[in-house]
Amino acid sequence: MPREFVANSATLGQIPAEGYYSAIGIRFPGGQTVGWTFPATTDGQRVNLVVYAVPFFILAMLLELFYGWRKRRNTYRLNDSVGSLFLGTLSQAQRFLTLGVGGYVYYLITEYFSLPLMDPGHWWTWLLAMVLYDFCYYWLHRLGHERTILWAAHVAHHQSEDYNLSTALRQTSTGFLLGWIFYIPMFVLGIPAEVVVTVGSLNLIYQFWVHTEHVPKLGWYEWLFVTPSNHRVHHAQNDRYLDRNYGGLFIIWDRLFGTFQEELPEEPCVYGIRGPLRSFNPLRALTHIYVDMARDSWHTRRWRDKLRVWVARNGWRPADVAARFPRAKTDLASFEKYDPRVPPAVGWYALFQLGAVVSLLNVMQFSAVDYVAGVVLVLALLATTVTTARWLDGGEPAAILRWEGMRLATLAGLLGIAWLSGVAPLPLLAGLLYLALNALALPWLGRREHAIPAPNLDAGQMSH
Ligand SMILES: [Zn+2]
Ligand SMILES: [Zn+2]
Repeated sequence: MPREFVANSATLGQIPAEGYYSAIGIRFPGGQTVGWTFPATTDGQRVNLVVYAVPFFILAMLLELFYGWRKRRNTYRLNDSVGSLFLGTLSQAQRFLTLGVGGYVYYLITEYFSLPLMDPGHWWTWLLAMVLYDFCYYWLHRLGHERTILWAAHVAHHQSEDYNLSTALRQTSTGFLLGWIFYIPMFVLGIPAEVVVTVGSLNLIYQFWVHTEHVPKLGWYEWLFVTPSNHRVHHAQNDRYLDRNYGGLFIIWDRLFGTFQEELPEEPCVYGIRGPLRSFNPLRALTHIYVDMARDSWHTRRWRDKLRVWVARNGWRPADVAARFPRAKTDLASFEKYDPRVPPAVGWYALFQLGAVVSLLNVMQFSAVDYVAGVVLVLALLATTVTTARWLDGGEPAAILRWEGMRLATLAGLLGIAWLSGVAPLPLLAGLLYLALNALALPWLGRREHAIPAPNLDAGQMSH
């Protein structure tokens, strides 16, 4: 039976409608089972192992935060963590827009150009897929740092100037544009799509735990696998550490291809990117490199250079625009984290909005949202994260309140439309409650008073 594909950007293109995935296994309509199955939605569109990992992610972040407080080595800041989690939320929400051609290309390859499909019931299919996926990931990730056009998508994972489990969830929303190209070999070799998608999700979930400063080097394990220590090096902007350690699961690729660098006790990691973003705005985080490229391409005089901007090595700029519009790079000797001072109320408000967007994403993932509703809800998520980030950036209250007014008026209008089109009372009530809480919070934010101390994530902040 041909597999049903739709052009889709889900983790790795569309998932065949017949199969359905579970937390730690996969079951096929024929009845064969690999791993342990867990009753999940049979709608291939929304099945995504990462969704099931979210409660575990939240618990692990709270544990790391608590551990840091106890040890007086807290690695979290509220503004930076909220910024990262906003990007994680948008990266998951982006799937509802079902953009991209990757899934369709995979379908064509599987149908017309691939070796005979391997048996997903055999363990060696999974082992081969696991290793091969990480090999493809290594090259995607390496070129994601070495070519500007791919860096433009991947940079979202690197802007945080802290290093903790929330950094792991800081993911791009534009990976669907080109990232799929790197996994074509897996489909050509005949690895079934459901296996590729599942090992891809497992690879991503594996990478979660390595984003912590609290775990030291792990002996022999450092030789084979990606670990907190060797991935800290990957996130550091120190000259010695720049563009090193690209593996997702295995570090052996870096040892083989000469991109490995060990973490050195005399060289503490300074996290972040060399051209700092200096904003928590997720829209800017997702687009700033594309915008820089478009500007350079526009301003440069030579036609050759206008095109070359889009295929050049990361860091290359046409000589004339580099001279006319120089870009400052961080001097690490005087590096200071971006940390605008804002009233405590802003911290509470940001936590409230984070709770709201994560809840909304969760509702979307577990209910039947049609395409138009999905697009509207993704835009609502985006507007909420961008507005909240403006508060965290210490923007002028009067200006932000105008945006907030528009955001809430639009939301009220949408609730009205939802009511008229017969949406169930519970989501409508939740929407009204959210509106009411916003209406209560905004005058308080606008006054900029310091009545309640901010949620104090900064206690015991490490010095570097
Ligand atoms: Zn990277
Ligand atoms: Zn990372």
